[in-house]
Amino acid sequence: MTADFLFSDLHVHTNKSLCAPRDTVPASYVPYCKDEGIRIIGISDHVYPEDMLAQYGYPEDKRVGRLLDLRPALKEAEEQSGIRYLLGCEIDYFDCVGYPYIRPEESVGFDYVLFASSHILNYPHMYTAYDLNSPDVLRKLTIERFVAACKLDYPVPMGICHPLYPICSPYQAEIIDGISDTTLKELFSMAAEKQISIEIHACLYRNDTPHNEYGLSDHYLRILAAARDCGCKFHMGSDAHAAGAFVGSHGKLRKAAELLGLTEAHIWDVAKGILPS
Ligand SMILES: [Zn+2]
Ligand SMILES: [Zn+2]
Repeated sequence: MTADFLFSDLHVHTNKSLCAPRDTVPASYVPYCKDEGIRIIGISDHVYPEDMLAQYGYPEDKRVGRLLDLRPALKEAEEQSGIRYLLGCEIDYFDCVGYPYIRPEESVGFDYVLFASSHILNYPHMYTAYDLNSPDVLRKLTIERFVAACKLDYPVPMGICHPLYPICSPYQAEIIDGISDTTLKELFSMAAEKQISIEIHACLYRNDTPHNEYGLSDHYLRILAAARDCGCKFHMGSDAHAAGAFVGSHGKLRKAAELLGLTEAHIWDVAKGILPS
């Protein structure tokens, strides 16, 4: 198997995320792990701002503390399947609110956290002061959010999911290609210095830019190559919200790792199942 040192998927959702089907639970992915070459699953559901949940009347079980309630289900799935489970979360943060939606002290129950630095069009109501139809504006925001993530300090291992990927924008190639090599070097040097892991994310094949013969985006591979050159560590993330998106993902992501020339030495400790003691 190509890049078989990538045997963990640290970005998988369950029904604790508002955007996942109601029947997606930690064990939903188990039947597919063998074929996918996955031995560790990291659950990283979205963390929502408490005020937003209250404002929109979202259910109690989506709140930060409730994500930790997944532990027993993870233990049970682990015992029944032999697959190891880690518990992370996917954190949004907005300058306009002034704090990330899970504060550093609240993160101690998680094995790791992923910062969703490019969730911008996911929450347009947070960015009403910006013209989000402008690729230049969105690029600037995407870069600023990445820098903001690199300035966060958490007591658990930190990663950035779908780094610099302008989710939902119709101008993806324009935005990504418009980030200069110099800027990429600055951004990923910051991430490397803070030991923030960079995600080999499904956006490598799930995006609107042209794809190469392997079905991967060279535009997006350029971004990850810059991270590699800056000494960043990596983890793999399908961002599956249900089994369907989990199946078939990891072969493509391993191909990307192979094209990038990644070796085991490039892989984040958490993705190898090594947690800080
Ligand atoms: Zn995300
Ligand atoms: Zn996600």
